[in-house]
Formats: sequence, structure tokens, C-alpha cells
Amino acid sequence: MSDLCWCGSGKLYEVCHKPIEEKMQAFQKRGCTVPNREMLKTPAQIAGIRKACEINTAVLDEVAKHIKTGMSTEEIDQLVYKFTVSKKAIPAPLGFCGFPKSVCTSVNDQVCHGIPSKDVILKSGDIVNVDVSTIYGGYYADASRMFEIGRVDKAKKDLVAITKECLNRGVKAARPWGFVGDIGAVISEFAHKHGYSVVKEFGGHGVGVQFHEDPFICHEGRRNTGMLLVPGMIFTIEPMINTGTDKVFVDEENEWTVYTEDGGQSAQWEHTILITDTGAEILTY
Ligand SMILES: [Zn+2]
Repeated sequence: MSDLCWCGSGKLYEVCHKPIEEKMQAFQKRGCTVPNREMLKTPAQIAGIRKACEINTAVLDEVAKHIKTGMSTEEIDQLVYKFTVSKKAIPAPLGFCGFPKSVCTSVNDQVCHGIPSKDVILKSGDIVNVDVSTIYGGYYADASRMFEIGRVDKAKKDLVAITKECLNRGVKAARPWGFVGDIGAVISEFAHKHGYSVVKEFGGHGVGVQFHEDPFICHEGRRNTGMLLVPGMIFTIEPMINTGTDKVFVDEENEWTVYTEDGGQSAQWEHTILITDTGAEILTY
């Protein structure tokens, strides 16, 4: 009698997920929060999400090629929409919970969820986050980058660079049999060292089979706390780092766009990552 693993790998459970699940149970007995099976992506799901991520990266590369001074964020939206559908994919934000556009474009003191508009013209000195999410073959990918428009002052350049390093450090801290809190710990320590604050109302999230899944990844945390990280988990790390206060508010009119409360600058970089047997693999490179 063969006992094939539930993940569809074609291997025996005994040599596939049994050792992983036994190790998880040992952590759980010590009081740790562990992921459920839905959070451990199967080889077929990982392959599908990987393809969605490849297209997502191509969309961001396309934005990088064209973004420039004088362009409206509406033009970025059109570019993202056209390029995504040309790849037989779907922009995930379009119509998500009523979101009206295909991409989020957040400029300067906008923290996230900026809505593209013909009235928002990128000017020299702006920093803008372009957050792209793609559905392909039913699977989701999510990543964002910062773009510096024209001549950007040193204070903004520093914020963009340090935020990117926060993401890199967060990815390095994500490893199997570590914890979600390890990620927030390294990110917040690095941000605070540079005098910046970390937004806590929004964070990373599981992604792949749906747009937003568990777990929530807070970008401020303590080591060895939060959910156990296990091979097969796929989630985003997407630190939002502010020059001033970490306090934010949501635009009352459009009910989406998030701003810093004090008008300080905000930057964000994002990747979708896979927890592997040895560390974390960035799927949205
Ligand atoms: Zn398995």
C-alpha cells in the first residue's frame, strides 16, 4: 500500500511532508503558532505562482522603461493594463474590493494605495511607488518598486535606499524554522537606526492562491515571536518606511489612499518570496 503525500509531489508522505509536519508539531507543543496546510503551497501551486511572478516582474520592468517626468499616473495605469493583458494575465487590483485601477501609484507622502489619475503629473524631485499585482492561470503575484523622478534630493534618495535595504534584510531574515517576528525585527531595527519610522497598519501577507492570505507580516517585530516559517510558505515582504511619524490616515474621499499624518515622505519596496529548505527565494526578481 503506497501512501502518497497530500501535496501531489508524487512522493510518499513518509519522505515528503511527514518530516516537515512532525517538526511543526514539535514547535506547536512548545506553544508556537504554526501554519496550516493551506499556507504550505504544493509543487503545482508553486509552479503556477512562479509564472505569475515572472509576468509581474516583466510589468514592473515595462514601467521602469517608460516612467518619466511629465507623465501622469493614469498613463502608468494604462501601460500596466495593456502590458498585463498582452501577456494573457489580469491586473489583480482592478475591481478588487472596488479599487478602480490596475495598479497603485503612491507619490511622496502617500504611503500606499495611491489611485492613478490624469491629474497627478510626475515632476522632477518626486519619489513614487508603483505596486503591481498580477493574476496568471489563477495564481497571484505581488511586488513594488520605488522610482526617482528627475532630480531627487538627498533626503529622498536616502529614504528610498534605506527602505530597499530594509526589504533585503527582511528577505535574508526569512528562513525555514525561523519566525515571522524575525523579519519585522531586522527591518524595524535598521529603519530606526536611520531615524525613520515603520508603518504598522499595513504589512506583508500570504499570496498566491488568493491576493491576500494569512499570515500577516508586520514590519516591526521581535525575534522568535509570531508564526513559525516553514518550507512552502509564500508571502510578501513590503516595508513602508516614513521619514517622520509612523502615523497614517486614509483619504476620506476615495477611501483608499494612505498618507503620512505629518506630511513626511514615505517609501516602500516589495517582493513575493518562497520559504525554501534552506532560506528564502525571491520569486519577483
Ligand atoms: Zn508533500
